[in-house]
Amino acid sequence: MARPLPATAEITIVGGGAMGCSLAYHLAALGRKPLVLERGRLGGGSTGRCAGGVRQQFSTAINIRLGQRAIELLGQFQEVTGTDPQYRPIGYLLLATSEAWAEALARDVSLQRLLNVPVEVLGSAEVGRLVPGLRTDDVSRASLCWTDGLAGPNEVTTGYAAAARRLGARVEEGVEVVGIDLKGERVHGVRTDHGLVSTPDVVICAGPQARQLGEMAAITVPVDPLKRHVLLTEPFLTPPLRSPMTIDLATGFYFHPEGGGLLMGMGDPSQPFGDDLSVDWNFLPKVVEEGSRRLPSLESAALRTAWAGLYEMTPDRQPLVGSVADRPGLWLACGFSGHGFMMAPPVGESLAAEMCGSAPRIDMSPFAPLRFSGGTLAPESVFV
Ligand SMILES: Cc1cc2nc3c(=O)[nH]c(=O)nc-3n(C[C@H](O)[C@H](O)[C@H](O)COP(=O)(O)OP(=O)(O)OC[C@H]3O[C@@H](n4cnc5c(N)ncnc54)[C@H](O)[C@@H]3O)c2cc1C
Repeated sequence: MARPLPATAEITIVGGGAMGCSLAYHLAALGRKPLVLERGRLGGGSTGRCAGGVRQQFSTAINIRLGQRAIELLGQFQEVTGTDPQYRPIGYLLLATSEAWAEALARDVSLQRLLNVPVEVLGSAEVGRLVPGLRTDDVSRASLCWTDGLAGPNEVTTGYAAAARRLGARVEEGVEVVGIDLKGERVHGVRTDHGLVSTPDVVICAGPQARQLGEMAAITVPVDPLKRHVLLTEPFLTPPLRSPMTIDLATGFYFHPEGGGLLMGMGDPSQPFGDDLSVDWNFLPKVVEEGSRRLPSLESAALRTAWAGLYEMTPDRQPLVGSVADRPGLWLACGFSGHGFMMAPPVGESLAAEMCGSAPRIDMSPFAPLRFSGGTLAPESVFV
């Protein structure tokens, strides 16, 4: 950090991932002057380890709407921020291989169509034509949306940060928040390893570390870190595969073409919560085995690299967004449960509006932090 921290800030955002930077930009665009404090580098948390997927194919209306708005905002991103977000609408293909998954997929497609998502339903022969070499004999139904796709996590995060700075926000790297000061129940300031900042509003955008930030304000933020792996192969397909991001709903195995090879991943149901980021080399063969069952040519692929990152899980796999009732001045934007990159643009937009007292474009009350103490839960089922 080149200059001292300011003694005061209108709003302090803890965490400079996609979420913190999006919120900073949207607040600054509404005339506020937020301060972002990031303990490491911008995008150095979960954002920098994510697969960059952006989709509208969810099971809940709010997530479908957020996906739609994310794509609109990515479409305007370069014009608004000056940075190309690298959005590639390669499509998302969701495979159902059992009656139960086929029924769930049909329900989700009905809701998506009701909300005007251009989603198609395919049978196994059409899927086979779309993705040559894919095993489809067990696919009973699939859904496909060509406007879903991939964007650049680094571009989106740094693009928002640069645009926020131009509008008067301060974005500081290498500053760790070590405490949140309260006066009674109200937020009064943050303590950092570079000094105190007096501030009436603090937003926890700390990804998998959100629970620790909550503890600093003596509240429980129900977010737990969960390790997930990404594998990247060397080029092995000639001609290179042209396929949408493809997800097997039953196993959670997913892949998309990347540089002549494949980028792929799959959840490990036995993985306990924890913040260990080391690659579990014993788990990777299971991903390749499952992948080769779905795409047999994968057997001949060499692994180029693999890395692990952290999902930020809540009990219902839905985010926590909004004010905290018994801590005036404390706000949450965390717990995205593996979807926070794509949700960052629209959640930042709507939360900024709410914080400025105007109507949010998307009503985020289903994400109210209080829902676990008596509110209504509507879990997301299209979880990858
Ligand atoms: C393998 C993998 C694949 C994924 N794929 C996708 C995908 O395809 N699409 C999608 O939408 N999402 C995906 N995700 C999820 C996505 O990465 C996250 O939901 C999203 O990046 C969360 O953004 P964030 O800004 O909330 O958190 P983060 O990016 O984790 O940012 C939080 C920041 O807070 C900082 N911080 C923490 N504590 C403090 C402190 N005390 N003081 C100061 N700073 C602090 C951290 O250093 C960090 O930079 C994936 C995640 C993983 C791990």
